[in-house]
Amino acid sequence: MRTTIMDNLVGYVVFPASNYLMNRKGIIGQYREFTRSEWFREDVLRHVQFKKLSATLEQAARHVPFYRERFRKLGLQPGDIRSLDDIRLIPALTRSDLMDAYREMVDERFAASIPVAEGAGRPSGEPIPLSRFRRHKLVRNTSSGSTGAPTVFFEDGSRTSMNWACEMRLKKWFGIGPGAREARMARLATAYLPDSRSLNVRKHLWHQLILPGTNLAEEEFALCIEKMRAFRPRVLWGYTSALTGLADYVRRNKIDTAAIPLQLAISWAAPLYGHEERLLRETFGCGISNIYGAREVGHIAALCPAGGLHVNQEYLLVESEPASAGAAHPGELLVTTLDATPMPFIRYRMGDVAEVAPAGCGCGRQLQLLKNLLGRTGEIFHTKSGRMISPNFWCRVFMSSEHADRIRRFQVVYTREKNLRIAIQRGDGYDEGTEWYIRSAVADNFTPDTELAIVYVDRIEPTVSGKYLMVINEAKQQEATWNR
Ligand SMILES: [Zn+2]
Repeated sequence: MRTTIMDNLVGYVVFPASNYLMNRKGIIGQYREFTRSEWFREDVLRHVQFKKLSATLEQAARHVPFYRERFRKLGLQPGDIRSLDDIRLIPALTRSDLMDAYREMVDERFAASIPVAEGAGRPSGEPIPLSRFRRHKLVRNTSSGSTGAPTVFFEDGSRTSMNWACEMRLKKWFGIGPGAREARMARLATAYLPDSRSLNVRKHLWHQLILPGTNLAEEEFALCIEKMRAFRPRVLWGYTSALTGLADYVRRNKIDTAAIPLQLAISWAAPLYGHEERLLRETFGCGISNIYGAREVGHIAALCPAGGLHVNQEYLLVESEPASAGAAHPGELLVTTLDATPMPFIRYRMGDVAEVAPAGCGCGRQLQLLKNLLGRTGEIFHTKSGRMISPNFWCRVFMSSEHADRIRRFQVVYTREKNLRIAIQRGDGYDEGTEWYIRSAVADNFTPDTELAIVYVDRIEPTVSGKYLMVINEAKQQEATWNR
């Protein structure tokens, strides 16, 4: 399917112009810049990052009360940071720092806008119409940990425009230009969908079809397919669990998707494990990508056609912090925002474990790679003998080709006593042999005194935010940060 004049009109004119009214500026300029800078040499990219980091630190020291105080206590001047590595002189920013001090983390030049944004009564993250021309441009947003209280943060539209530009670059990697028709399985209940004027506007002016993305059952999946047949999207975007749920529905019901000309499916809000990627690829017969990010700092990395999870290095500095000095990578990810924003984040602790590797991807782009993205710190479990079990282990156990069809969904709970409770939603062909296989995989990898309870359920419930957790570690119960 080729790009039409209409796609170009939407992508290059109508979409950026309407976003401009919401103070989301420079999307196309940023996108064009991205398509150049991704080919920069590694040292050039690092130089660009350092220049932007210096500006961010300068802003933080001068205008952000939280950082001004933090730097004062450390006796640190922005000029003391002479290289990207020197950023380690600044302590990491935790989620509880953010919860305690989010107002002090806003650039004081926006101070008068904070109460306005807080009192506006708009849903989290909802853009302000015509904010480009208003005095108060701050948008209040929240990110919900799957277990804990949500954090609050602010942006002025620039974070969103950066995300849009990043998604445009990602689609370009798969040969899709701005304005291509896109179906987005969003965080909306079905009840909200019919006859909404803003959704209709979005469909025609942005070429975006908004579909339900949470609490999905057969009825919603059927609706998604029906709407996609009429809309003919080239891109499908959504939570990993929504996309795999839809693919599973299509496969089980042998639904013909020939009328939907998909070229790319982009999953986000959770890692995309091998078996999930395979399911999407086989069902939709299109390219598959994944975005790793968090609402506070934006899209952090995106998966290229050659399988590299590339860091958006131009506006983020991503470090991997070893668990202890001298320990080998991977470590917990820390993210620093480098673009101009009213609320800079410096060394924000993501709660996810991965390795930041130099480029070396088959696609030839020089952007760094995230490797061994093992999952949230809370999803990684150490057995009684100290053996590390990452979520990938369970993917291998449950989704090996031999057993993939017998299990619809599973959830592993590590109890406080380091025992295991596994909930299984059975598929066709599940039998005693399958259970025996699971029990022997556990016996081979966990200590003999580890108790295993297998519970068969009709349905595994998603969290409040609509995501399915594959692994729950009751011993840690660390809040999830993956694209909250
Ligand atoms: Zn690549």
